[in-house]
Amino acid sequence: EAKRTDGTAVRIYETGLGTRAAERYDLERRLREALRTGALTVAFQPIVEADDRRITGAEALVRWNDDGRAIPPDDFIPLAEQTGLVVDIDLFVLDRACAALAMAGSPNRIGVNFSAGTLALPDLVDRIDEVLSRHGVPADRLCIELTETTLIGVSPVTDAMLHALFDRGVHLALDDFGTGYASLNYLRRFPVTRIKIDRSFVDDLLSSPEDSAIVQGTVLLAKRLSIQTVAEGVETVAQADALTALGCDHLQGYLLGRPMPLEDLLATTSACVRT
Ligand code: C2E
Ligand code: MG
Ligand code: MG
Ligand code: MG
Repeated sequence: EAKRTDGTAVRIYETGLGTRAAERYDLERRLREALRTGALTVAFQPIVEADDRRITGAEALVRWNDDGRAIPPDDFIPLAEQTGLVVDIDLFVLDRACAALAMAGSPNRIGVNFSAGTLALPDLVDRIDEVLSRHGVPADRLCIELTETTLIGVSPVTDAMLHALFDRGVHLALDDFGTGYASLNYLRRFPVTRIKIDRSFVDDLLSSPEDSAIVQGTVLLAKRLSIQTVAEGVETVAQADALTALGCDHLQGYLLGRPMPLEDLLATTSACVRT
């Protein structure tokens, strides 16, 4: 039995904890090595205009190939967040995304996901400036995707940094919109240019009047605030058509394209995704 700081007892199953700690340590060691050896790569998922289904954007998503086994981000990003490794991962993805933006045939805009640790870097604005200028990419082609959870409790310094990025033209997307704690307050407080409507509202869009109303309300609110909307997790033609009818600006999901290697994205960007 161990004591919490408040004095209450917690029972710890020593072998279980030991095993988990060892597993976590091993995962961390392998992840650190993956960053060094190039086992981390970036996949790009197309984002299309709802009206004509043309690819105008993409989201950069980290991929880990661990000795032939693909480990999904949801299985290692939380650990990377706890250990601080996520900062290196995010900056790596940022660099690859800007390199992609510099290529012929790349989409107009690419989104990168930042965790709280990355957002807290005191020199983040300088780093972003440096990456953009090194690749010769204008700031307005970059979008930073942040979840509401990531934005909880950001310092006034970070707040000012987000506004400095906005002034440069960098886009800011609220990711997984509607699943966090303070969506509306964040729309007011931060210079948000895009809302990414969470997949959970898209899943049952056609059968759930509640979800449909929430999506419709979000789109109307966004329009009034001159914020663009992206629907995530679009898997069927019926969903894509319903979202388009509701006035959603952009669509992202397996229907429009899976996350793919950069070469594949560049080969499809000029083409229309037919749905
Ligand atoms: P996210 O930023 O919300 O990214 C969208 C996720 O939805 C991606 O999962 C994507 O593959 C998945 N997705 C896209 N379309 C569909 C669809 O039609 N159906 C379904 N079921 N899923 C779809 P992925 O790549 O596994 O990433 C999961 C999460 O991991 C991301 O959610 C993001 O929060 C985090 N993540 C990924 N890459 C990075 C990164 O470089 N840095 C940080 N900090 N987080 C990352
Ligand atoms: Mg995202
Ligand atoms: Mg999302
Ligand atoms: Mg997510």
